[in-house]
Amino acid sequence: EYIQIAIDGPAGAGKSTIAKKIAKCLDITYIDTGAMYRALTYKVLVNNVDIYNEEEIIKLARESDIKFFQENIYLDNQKVNEEIRSIEVNKNVSYVAKIREVRLILVNLQRKIALDQDVIMDGRDIGTHVLPNARLKIFLTASVEERATRRYTELKGKCNDISFNEIKKDIINRDKIDSERKSAPLVKAEDAIVIDTTGLSIDDVVEKIIDLLRG
Ligand code: C5P
Repeated sequence: EYIQIAIDGPAGAGKSTIAKKIAKCLDITYIDTGAMYRALTYKVLVNNVDIYNEEEIIKLARESDIKFFQENIYLDNQKVNEEIRSIEVNKNVSYVAKIREVRLILVNLQRKIALDQDVIMDGRDIGTHVLPNARLKIFLTASVEERATRRYTELKGKCNDISFNEIKKDIINRDKIDSERKSAPLVKAEDAIVIDTTGLSIDDVVEKIIDLLRG
């Protein structure tokens, strides 16, 4: 039986940084499910499809080839690691992710990936929907202020005309849409362990999770 670890939580809680480190440490595969919703959102934007046009977006989702290969994400065989991190994608991804049919398609892909290897997967619905039988479920949180500060520091290096307040607003808005949607909303799984990372270092959190795994 393969190991499944689920990491969920709101935007900017440090899920991907932590999950990547744990994956390296345990030599298992890291799957960033947010990247899949982002890749589809990028395609929606490139094709000038209206973000509220669910029918067109579902059609695009059906036609899309989204996959991971050696820590890169590919959309229709094009590497889109950078493209999916744009401010435009940030602003729009939650509207794409709330569409039920889109979620069915991507969750299917995610479950397939976990069929034949050990994985640590991060997202919003991993413990509740994608991998309900995961060996360990973590719900990572941190204060909005801290989450916005982390994102700001991360993005500042790449792009100068970004404001802290804009990032904070974007995070709050995404969390709201993700938590209030009907289909697999962002919510802690009953059996998930909450870790509030406010004030904790990355290594503190990684160590905590590895300890939990070892029981
Ligand atoms: O994790 P990340 O911030 O990159 O995710 C981007 C967006 O993708 C989230 O705000 C959410 O709308 C959506 N998402 C989701 N379910 C997941 C992962 C991400 O709805 N499992």
